[in-house]
Amino acid sequence: MNLVLLGAPGAGKGTQGNLLVKDLGLKKISTGDIFREILKDPSNPLYEDVKVIKEGKLVTDETVNNVVRYAVETSDNKNFIFDGYPRTLAQADALDKILADNGMKIDAVFELSVTKDVLMYRLLGRRTCRNCKGIFHVSAGYEVCPQCGGELYTRDDDNEETVEARFVEYNTKTMPLIEYYSSKDVKYIKYTVDSVDLTPDDINKKVLPELK
Ligand code: ADP
Ligand code: ZN
Repeated sequence: MNLVLLGAPGAGKGTQGNLLVKDLGLKKISTGDIFREILKDPSNPLYEDVKVIKEGKLVTDETVNNVVRYAVETSDNKNFIFDGYPRTLAQADALDKILADNGMKIDAVFELSVTKDVLMYRLLGRRTCRNCKGIFHVSAGYEVCPQCGGELYTRDDDNEETVEARFVEYNTKTMPLIEYYSSKDVKYIKYTVDSVDLTPDDINKKVLPELK
């Protein structure tokens, strides 16, 4: 099965993706995670292309599509969750082609729809594990990652100014994908989060039966 996660920055794609990896044994391809690895090494040939994420801008379609094609074609596990990809209509076309070239297609799209105040609360309070990429809110009070003991840090792009720029990118370039996928022949699951009290597990329990 191949699943696409759709939603604004902070919607919880990463967290839900991590849970679904455990539930369904899928391989997660997170373009954001891949780009953050690239940014650790200034000698990486893609470093200059990827640097724009520090300003909340999208990486070019060409670079992202190449990175995803490589990740798909080199993975042993051929059942994927795409987290943070596609983010533009051109990327959605490219993904169809990458999958078709490898005898696959998208089977389901899971949209997380979250109100802006919840998104802001989450992004500005997000702590990410450097080691296992686990995601936690500062209000949970963890000093280190509860899953692996790794260091928790605040991502460079989780500050107010960059968050605003990411919302603009989302609204103009990624929102059209909602229309695109809801009119396509794929299973489309939408879950609306309107309260900061909903836990990741609550959401996971609602969606999992629909994906199984
Ligand atoms: P979030 O969903 O919280 O914005 P991600 O980790 O998915 O976080 O992405 C972080 C940044 O990486 C994005 O703001 C963007 O600059 C870049 N990026 C990630 N995926 C893509 C993509 N598919 N196309 C273009 N840029 C991307
Ligand atoms: Zn961890």
